Amino acid sequence: MQITFCGAAGTVTGSSYLVETTGGRFLVDCGMFQGSKEIRQLNRQEFIFNPGKLDFVLLTHAHVDHSGLLPKLWKSGFKKKIFTTKATRQLCGIVLPDSGHIQEMEVEWRNRKHQRAGVPLENPLYTAAEALQCLGLFEPKSYNEEFLPLPGVRVRFLDAGHILGSSIIEVFITEDGVTTKIVFSGDLGQNNQPIIQDPTLVAEADYVLIESTYGNRLHEDHTQKVDLLRKIIIESVNSGGNLVIPAFAVGRTQDLLYYIKNLLRSGQIPRIPVYIDSPMAVSVTEIYRDNPDCYDEETRQLFAAHESPFEFPNLKFIRTAEQSKLLNATAKGAVIISANGMCEAGRILHHLKHNLWRPESHILFVGYQADETLGRRLLEGAKVVKIMGEEVGVHAKIHSIGGFSAHADQAGLMDWLAGFTQKPRSIFIVHGENGAQTELAALIKHRLNIDSFIPKWGERFTLNTEPRLEQELQIPQLPNYTLEKTVNDLEHCIMQLHNQIKQSDFTQATPEINQLKQLISQLESEYKNLA
Ligand SMILES: [Zn+2]
Repeated sequence: MQITFCGAAGTVTGSSYLVETTGGRFLVDCGMFQGSKEIRQLNRQEFIFNPGKLDFVLLTHAHVDHSGLLPKLWKSGFKKKIFTTKATRQLCGIVLPDSGHIQEMEVEWRNRKHQRAGVPLENPLYTAAEALQCLGLFEPKSYNEEFLPLPGVRVRFLDAGHILGSSIIEVFITEDGVTTKIVFSGDLGQNNQPIIQDPTLVAEADYVLIESTYGNRLHEDHTQKVDLLRKIIIESVNSGGNLVIPAFAVGRTQDLLYYIKNLLRSGQIPRIPVYIDSPMAVSVTEIYRDNPDCYDEETRQLFAAHESPFEFPNLKFIRTAEQSKLLNATAKGAVIISANGMCEAGRILHHLKHNLWRPESHILFVGYQADETLGRRLLEGAKVVKIMGEEVGVHAKIHSIGGFSAHADQAGLMDWLAGFTQKPRSIFIVHGENGAQTELAALIKHRLNIDSFIPKWGERFTLNTEPRLEQELQIPQLPNYTLEKTVNDLEHCIMQLHNQIKQSDFTQATPEINQLKQLISQLESEYKNLA
């Protein structure tokens, strides 16, 4: 049997592995590449396998970097089954059409530019409608349920404790009477995460693929971060301003609700109004409510005592744009949790615009802020930022709490590997940056005496005895000059500005909007000169 690394090999995103056996072939995950323009271009490449010849797909969880190219796979001729958990299927029902919508908007903007330049128009990677069609292929399986998608291939999903419905996948492949077991870690969660179970320990495997997002990092202590949250809420209550928390809609928002509810129940914070202002976060929270079988013991007990973490006095879910605008104008002394988590788009921008200039307001970051995002600029202490074309002075107090990550840190990854009572023959380290992978590989060798491979994109290994590298593919060499990067970054900024205007539900052309549009066209003409 052979395994080909079609993504998340040398990068964090684009998870996808092709397994070929004597009986057939299947894919584990089909994720989108995210990050720099060079990496994102891999999404536009033809698959390095024939999608029409796959027998089935296994999906570890709903995050776009694991599921985001499934609609493209469907579009390219794959019409067989995608096995995953029920919760993952439900979350994909929100995440994939949303991703299709983003593809459509980005292409629409680029095509306007192409039209002016007389360049051939692009098609979106896939549309929201195509994503919905692809969802028809999903077939839910329960944790621990064994099934045979193909003669000679047995599969079992185990809880990975990363987000709701996330899985570790065990695959047992029998060829010529010999059974080989491969374990795909998927994304592994932290122990003691709220709501969901801890990652399941697996006792045996011949080969393991392990993620390594935090392969060289340790997270902050759990009790410390909750205490920090309590202190920041009290501080914002005392100053009479709002506490605005940019948060990812899937997972982080629900974790925050859980912690805030606990602080309220134990009387550690006063009864302040809490708003969830993101249509996606509202829908995702409903899915969390709908999957009690994924809860850990503490959460089960909370529900048994009629203390749902997703309900408490003064908690309001905001769906419509009108309600959101009203909240912008009237909220005082409230906690506002909104998306997206890196402040690149969405309703969070309006809340920042209304709160950053107020010295009594507080902004709290609880997630990773990528380079060149508004979130990163605020964290780095910018005194003035531009939001939707308007300069906003930063007078609010900026806070940040680490350790809310949905990923295991280095210690968590090593603990999970130590759970194997039968030593795996080899470990493949995937889903991580170079430094994280090499440090984890060294630690695995030192502590567990197991050899690891750090596969590159497109590499294929034969797995019968000692893994043997059979094929290498080179990532297409893309020029990466400084000027080119500047032009690309600028193009990305302009595109985001267009998207933000579009998402903002502006009904009338106020002088501010006209000024913003003028600024964007000025920027566009400067960009054209540069390009
Ligand atoms: Zn994930």
